Order: sequence, then C-alpha cells, then structure tokens
Amino acid sequence: MSDTPTTLVTGGAGFLGSHLCQRLLGDGRRVICLDNLSTGSRANIEHLKGEFEFIEHDLINPIKLDAAFVYHLACPASPVHYQSNPVRTIKTNVLGTINMLGLARRTGARILLASTSEVYGDPIKHPQREDYPGNVNQLGPRACYDEGKRVAETLMMEYHREHGVDVRIARIFNTYGPRMAANDGRVVSNFILGALRGEPLKLFGGGGQSRSFCYVDDLIGGLVSLMEYQGGLRHQPFNLGNPHEITIRELAATILRLTGSAAPVVTGPAQQDDPGRRCPDISRAMTELGFQSVTDLLEGLRRTIDYFRALAV
Ligand code: NAD
Ligand code: UDP
Repeated sequence: MSDTPTTLVTGGAGFLGSHLCQRLLGDGRRVICLDNLSTGSRANIEHLKGEFEFIEHDLINPIKLDAAFVYHLACPASPVHYQSNPVRTIKTNVLGTINMLGLARRTGARILLASTSEVYGDPIKHPQREDYPGNVNQLGPRACYDEGKRVAETLMMEYHREHGVDVRIARIFNTYGPRMAANDGRVVSNFILGALRGEPLKLFGGGGQSRSFCYVDDLIGGLVSLMEYQGGLRHQPFNLGNPHEITIRELAATILRLTGSAAPVVTGPAQQDDPGRRCPDISRAMTELGFQSVTDLLEGLRRTIDYFRALAV
C-alpha cells in the first residue's frame, strides 16, 4: 500500500465524487478526498471513513499536496446551486482549476477535469460531438457555470501545451443515481421526491425539452477509463453520457409509473437559456475507451427511487 500512488479527488464528498472515491478505493487506490462541503456532505462519504484521507478545503485557495492522479470534480453542478453564488462558481472553475493544474505541474500528476455538456450551451446541432463549438449565452444566468467550465477546459489545454501537463477532459452529460442531493433542484431528484411526497412535479417550460440520463456507475467507469487511457486522443475532450434522449415530460410520467404515485404534473415557467435538446454523440468514448452506458433508465431510476425512499425525505 505504501508504494501505491496517491489519487486526489476534488469534490469527493459530492454526488459523483463520493461514487468515484468508492470505486477507486475498491480498486485498491490510495485516495485523498478534498472538498469544502458546500454542496457535498459528510454523509456521502461516511461509509468510506477510515479508508481515505478527507481534507476540508476551499479550492479557490491554493493547497500543497502530492498526488500522481487528480480527478478534479469540485464545482457546484446543479443550476440552483451554481446560480446561487455565480461569482463563486466562476472562481471555483477558474482559480480552483489553476490551483489544481499548478499542483499537477509541480508533482507531475495526470489530471482529469469534470467538464460538462453545458459547454455546448443551448445546442443547435444534434447529437453533440466533441468538435461542436457550442451555443452559449455568455450574459445569461447559466454562464457562470458554462463559461466557467469552458475556461477550465482552456486552462487544461494551455497547461498541457505550455507546461506539458498530462490532461484529460471529460464532458459529462446529465448523470443521476443514489446520493444526488435532495435539495439541489435537479430534475431526477425533484421528480422522485415529488412523486414520493405526493407533491406536484413541475415541468419548466412545458417539459418538451430533452435530456439523456446516464446512471452514475456507468459514468464513473467512463471517468476511470479516460484517466487510464493512453491513446492518441488522450488530451482531447470526451463526451461521457447516455445517448438515449427523453423529454422531461416523459421522464415525469416514467417516475410516476415506477413509484405508483398519483402526484399531479403541472407546468412551470420556462427557465432562461434552458437547453431545448441535449444528447451526446459518444462514438469517441465508445471507440477509444470502450465506454457504454449500459444501465437501463428504468433500472437506474428504480435504484435511485429506493435510495430516496430509504432516506424517507
Ligand atoms: P455535487 O455538487 O454533488 O459535487 C460537487 C462537489 O464539489 C461538492 O461536494 C462540493 O461541496 C464541492 N465543491 C464545490 N465547490 C468547491 C470548492 N470551491 N472547493 C472545494 N470543493 C468544492 O455535483 P456532482 O453532480 O457530483 O458534480 C461533480 C462534477 O461533475 C462537477 O464539476 C460538475 O460540474 C460535473 N458534472 C456533473 C454532472 C451531473 O449530471 N452530475 C453533469 C456534468 C458535469
Ligand atoms: N426541470 C423541470 N422541473 C424540475 C427541475 C428541472 O422541468 O423540477 C427541467 C429543467 O428546466 C431542464 C431539465 O429539467 O430542462 C434538466 O434540469 P436539471 O436541473 O436536472 O439539469 P440541466 O438543466 O443542468 O440539464
């Protein structure tokens, strides 16, 4: 164990980060989890206590650590949270990413950025391929996150070109599963909670917009494969997600069916700059990483519903 290289996971107490830490520990890695607990929680990593080192730290401030691999996930991910303090979201993406790239440069670590499908904004091209430059409104309420992640990608590329840092960029599409925060306003958690409580499921803007939902275990497998990948495209971005598109209205109906709930479905106002369609082209990840989103949506939703039921929230 003492010769095992250290893997640093930023945002490790969050939804994806906690699953990633669990996976890495299961693979026998030595893990340091760093988080400021702003949207993550100790409860998410309670079951891993004693197996890894947890450091409470805000990445906006530099930190000196040694690591061979850095999974850089720290950033609020849901619109409700990233819009609640937009300047802080930008600082996390810019200063936090510079701090982690500085650490990678100093220690020679390989670093993977958890980027997002939001770099494509409200896309005009479908499905979205990695070479699509996107359609982002830099003045809108989602820009703190979208543009923040776009700059984070730019920083990754410049540290690679200028300093030879070994970078990986994962563009993550909507992912769901156990340990999503109940209060973060994402559609899957909102609809499951509404269904379980018998409260209205609100379709923003009518629910005709689409997303493609990937189960967390599949996504985590993709992140690990990308980190380990040594092929010729390793410094290019990779879309990771489920290419099966579904409207938000269909998602509501599916969750009501699976929970056996009679909660009403109502229409709410459209959110500004809400992407109308989103669906990844994952051919690069399939060819280069052997990535597949294998968990059926119904099965993944059942597991997520069980999780929220057990929480009795
Ligand atoms: P999350 O909010 O559950 O996790 C983010 C974690 O980062 C939290 O534990 C939070 O406390 C921590 N954090 C935030 N700002 C920090 C800071 N300044 N310093 C230290 N820690 C900080 O969200 P998630 O869904 O787990 O997302 C993880 C990453 O994946 C994010 O970078 C997000 O942009 C990206 N992503 C997620 C999705 C998805 O569908 N879940 C989609 C696209 C991209
Ligand atoms: N949405 C909705 N009702 C909700 C929460 C979200 O209709 O209670 C919609 C939202 O407007 C968006 C989609 O569901 O079109 C996905 O929203 P989420 O916040 O989960 O993720 P993102 O917008 O980042 O893809």
